[in-house]
Amino acid sequence: MKIAIASGKGGTGKTTVAASLALSLIDWGNVCYVDCDVEAPNGHLFLKPDFSTQVEAIIRIPEIQEEQCTVCGKCVEVCQFHALAKIGKSILVFPQLCHGCGSCTWNCPQGAISEVPNPIGMLESGLTQEGIRFARGLLTISEPMPTPIIRQLKKSELISKDDIVIYDAPPGASCSVVETLRGVDYALLVTEPTPFGLHDLKQMLGIAQEMNIPVGIVINRDGIGDARMEAYLQEHHLPILLRIPYLRILATGIASGKTLIDILPEYREHLQHLYAQILEQGIGGVSC
Ligand code: SF4
Ligand code: SF4
Repeated sequence: MKIAIASGKGGTGKTTVAASLALSLIDWGNVCYVDCDVEAPNGHLFLKPDFSTQVEAIIRIPEIQEEQCTVCGKCVEVCQFHALAKIGKSILVFPQLCHGCGSCTWNCPQGAISEVPNPIGMLESGLTQEGIRFARGLLTISEPMPTPIIRQLKKSELISKDDIVIYDAPPGASCSVVETLRGVDYALLVTEPTPFGLHDLKQMLGIAQEMNIPVGIVINRDGIGDARMEAYLQEHHLPILLRIPYLRILATGIASGKTLIDILPEYREHLQHLYAQILEQGIGGVSC
């Protein structure tokens, strides 16, 4: 079962839920936690893995062999990402726009393109004390594109077919979130009952619907805001699988690196119940 924990909005408690869900399920199977927030990963602060493997994440970018290139422009034409440009009698490559898709190489009629590795960050993995397999990506600060590293991270050999895989998605509703959601069985959307929370939740629901992924909702900081969130969820028959109250002890505990279940141990059982509901709802269940 592959579950993505997403929120749309940053700071809604996505990692809080993801880390505690992983810890709650260690007796339910092999749990794998994949931190896909490659620009600002923070799952390790709660799960404290011992990183034993570190490899460079690379993409292969084109290098034009000028002596073979006839400047026909075919490569420029097929590049969806505007990473190539025909300027006078030469082809320019913009490495930071290149997704490493290989399309230009495939389509060059002269075989004038070779591919060279371009490092974009690091992939790290290891085990937590509880036996959770943990993987994360770290995008190099000057690199603009998180999607290739997320794609590589999700192919980690740490992940086996039958694992319970928890993907901690990046904030926002951009291509990096779409990349995280690609291929998951379920999206658990963490939100807060405020107008901003509702606005961003609607964006996430739109993405999940487009990708045909069943969803369930976690309301964090329950008790703040207004009634619009509840009304919206009710109207659209969206299941609320968990509520986390707005409590000072949670805010201070989480800020000091404690997990939800460290602070409120009864949430271990609540999260197990949530997972059981996901299994029931399961693949092809409630779609938004
Ligand atoms: S497709 Fe090949 S031959 Fe044509 S411009 Fe690009 S590199 Fe040159
Ligand atoms: S590898 Fe793909 S993204 Fe990169 S330049 Fe070639 S076609 Fe464009």
